[in-house]
Amino acid sequence: MTEINCQGCGIEVQTSDETHPGYTPKSALDRETVLCQRCFRLKHYNEIQDVSITDDDFLSMVSRIRDRNGLVVHVIDIFDVSGTLISGLPRIVGNKPVLLVGNKMDLLPKSTNKNKLIQWLRSSAKEAGINVENVYLISSVKGHGMDALAETIEYHRNKQDVFIVGTTNVGKSTFINRLIKQSTGESDVITTSYFPGTTLGFIQIPLDDQTALIDTPGIVNKQQMAHYVSDNDLKVITPKKEIKPRVYQLNSGQTLYFGGLARLDFIKGERQSFVCYFANNLPIHRTKIEKADELYKEHLGGLLSPPDKDTLEIIPELTANTFRITEGNTDIVFPGLGWVTIPSGELTVAVHSPKGVNVSQRRSFT
Ligand code: GDP
Repeated sequence: MTEINCQGCGIEVQTSDETHPGYTPKSALDRETVLCQRCFRLKHYNEIQDVSITDDDFLSMVSRIRDRNGLVVHVIDIFDVSGTLISGLPRIVGNKPVLLVGNKMDLLPKSTNKNKLIQWLRSSAKEAGINVENVYLISSVKGHGMDALAETIEYHRNKQDVFIVGTTNVGKSTFINRLIKQSTGESDVITTSYFPGTTLGFIQIPLDDQTALIDTPGIVNKQQMAHYVSDNDLKVITPKKEIKPRVYQLNSGQTLYFGGLARLDFIKGERQSFVCYFANNLPIHRTKIEKADELYKEHLGGLLSPPDKDTLEIIPELTANTFRITEGNTDIVFPGLGWVTIPSGELTVAVHSPKGVNVSQRRSFT
């Protein structure tokens, strides 16, 4: 049998042992894009039972680049920064210069202040143990910011390899395909030309005779909301176009439900507006705090959707945290879902999110 490699991670595909790396059922070999079962599950089901960011195979695979020189391009989803920043990245990939690329810019409202956003990304990266050379904002789907980024990569790589790293679902493949298309004029190179002859098991795209752009396997981060919802629900919570803010005037004692996936209780403070930035299709319900638990019990999966049936089987229970807001223009961030801007005032809120998906505060950049 001629060697077939997984188009996801590059590992040699085998059909004999399900417990070994590279396994794929025989029937899957006829597909146009052959993926090993692990990549297939990750791609299509976001399945994480047996793989996580601490998963040894993944880490050892990515850590093979630790001793190689080159530039690291870390792609994150600006809609889910805490879920997609790889905490302690230098420990995994070695001490190389890092360019941080915030993808999916097209989803943010036009009023976004890019400088503030960049500052916030830089400091979030620092908190995650990553010192970045520079931060770039792009949309790999629309192509925004890609020319400038390609030039910067060329400059910073200093005639060395480029390693693209990211968690699953940040748009890494879209990004790489766009980069290739930009430099070669061809599209979808990644699914048609795997370059064999490497022991790394990564997909490599030659940049010149000596060096390559190397795609590393998507790391799974358990904090990513995307892992706790079904494919269908992921479509509902993922914005498809620029998000339009929805404004609610609330009195203390009122609650907002974001589908049934998260909740914000206005505990204390003057009547004020809450500006909600979520996918336009995600229903938001207003109710009273005293009725909120009952509503949840009776209508979760119905009036309060998503979650759908499949999500209900995998999503962790909601846990609450209290935030005291003392400054105006503060965002309460629900990673992977959206955020609520509080334009003014002193107030106390309780936020509920699936256990493990941690809500945080930041200065607003809109
Ligand atoms: P990967 O798992 O990191 O390789 O991610 P993919 O390239 O498969 O993209 C994951 C999802 O994000 C897909 O539904 C893409 O269409 C979407 N996506 C990728 N880049 C962008 C972007 O710049 N903007 C938007 N709105 N969606 C994007």
